[in-house]
Amino acid sequence: MSAKIIDGKAFAAEVREKVAGHVSRLKEVHGITPGLAVVLVGDDPASEVYVRNKGKQTLEAGMNSYEHKLPEDTPEADLLALVKQLNADPAVHGILVQLPLPQHIDEEKVINAITPDKDVDGFHILNVGLLGTGQKAMVPCTPLGCLMMLRDHHGSLSGLNAVVVGRSNIVGKPMAQLLLRDSCTVTIAHSRTKDLADVCRRADILVAAVGRPQMIPGDWVKPGATVIDVGINRIPAPEKGEGKTRLVGDVEFDSAAQVAGAITPVPGGVGPMTIACLLANTVTACCRANNLPEPE
Ligand code: NDP
Repeated sequence: MSAKIIDGKAFAAEVREKVAGHVSRLKEVHGITPGLAVVLVGDDPASEVYVRNKGKQTLEAGMNSYEHKLPEDTPEADLLALVKQLNADPAVHGILVQLPLPQHIDEEKVINAITPDKDVDGFHILNVGLLGTGQKAMVPCTPLGCLMMLRDHHGSLSGLNAVVVGRSNIVGKPMAQLLLRDSCTVTIAHSRTKDLADVCRRADILVAAVGRPQMIPGDWVKPGATVIDVGINRIPAPEKGEGKTRLVGDVEFDSAAQVAGAITPVPGGVGPMTIACLLANTVTACCRANNLPEPE
């Protein structure tokens, strides 16, 4: 193995420590405690784990956490009413509605009902537009975490060829916008891309956000490239015992690590950074709401 392993877990711990420092200053100097409201509709087990972790880490950073668990059959109107109530609550600086929502609820309608200043996920159409036009926006947490790791590793990203595999609104597209903002030459690949292997081989920075276990093998990776694996896929792991599973990314880690210059592992790469960035975005939202300088 030749690649440097980018330790997202350790990096995220540093980010959370900084966030906790900002929170304690906000409390001591200004008497303000940032608050994050997380709304979960239904009982999807993966979403429940995410929400629990978010709540735990919010409290650990010294912030207030407000969890709202609603049943699967909650009418859209009730969810919109809750969002409206949270929008108006001065103790709530960030609102996150855990996705996916049940089929009968219009996700876009709910996301766009969140007041943009409290949209710590950065999915509101206004924040998407602000990011796309290079203005001050709430930036989606997962791509933001990826960007922080890339900047930390490379310093400047200017002029590098970046390939983002995946064009979702929550990862692929905002990731591409952030890389463009940092002056990369950006290619967005997706399920219709021709010669994906060749496209990937041109990447100095390869971001995989597909949701297909170990789809990208090492021989798609340019020697020395930086590989950011966003994918979180659960696959059977009979070696651990009957019925056991394990998490893998979208990249075939062992073969890619032979060629890449640096690579994020799964788990322990992008995942922990996502929650750390959510906490950071909540502090940013709190500072903006109170006309205070934002943390860098
Ligand atoms: P989506 O399913 O919304 O998007 C997947 C994208 O991958 C689509 O743009 C799709 O293309 C593309 N794609 C699918 N198959 C192929 C293929 N064979 N070749 C090339 N492109 C393909 O997923 P998300 O963006 O929401 O998530 C992607 C992964 O990241 C998932 O594993 C998810 O669990 C993980 N994730 C991890 C997070 C973290 O915190 N670490 C946070 C969010 C997501 P098309 O548009 O053409 O269909």
